[in-house]
This record gives sequence, C-alpha cells and structure tokens, in this order.
Amino acid sequence: MLKCKHVVVKADALVDGAPLTRRERFALRLHLLMCHHCRRYVRQLRALLNTLPRNPDSLDDARTREILDKLNAPQER
Ligand SMILES: [Zn+2]
Repeated sequence: MLKCKHVVVKADALVDGAPLTRRERFALRLHLLMCHHCRRYVRQLRALLNTLPRNPDSLDDARTREILDKLNAPQER
C-alpha cells in the first residue's frame, strides 16, 4: 500500500487529470479510501486549484484578498 508521502507526490496528477497508470490510480484511490488525512489533502488541493484564476495577470488586489481569505478560513467539515 502507498504511504501518505507517495500520495502527496502523486496528488497533483490525480487532481489535474494528468496521466497515471491504472495501477497508480488504483493505488491512490485505495489509499484515499482508507486515509482521511490524504482525502482532506486532496480535497484542499482541489479547492485551491478551483480558487486560483486561470490567468494570474488578471488578479487585482480585491481578488487576491478574497483568495487569501478563503485559504485562511477555518475548514468546513
Ligand atoms: Zn495517507
């Protein structure tokens, strides 16, 4: 079984939909079923990626503040 540190390394690919082998994807999914720490990590990573703008040049100060507030907000369960 994968260790948490391996999940962290591969989480970007999982969230981005980058190519993973079937074996890697299965191992990640299996680990996520059993490890709430990594599930939370992947969920936060997805939320972060959904919050960031596609074009960083379009950020203004208000938008930057909004993103930082979301990142610093207490996590919902
Ligand atoms: Zn884990």
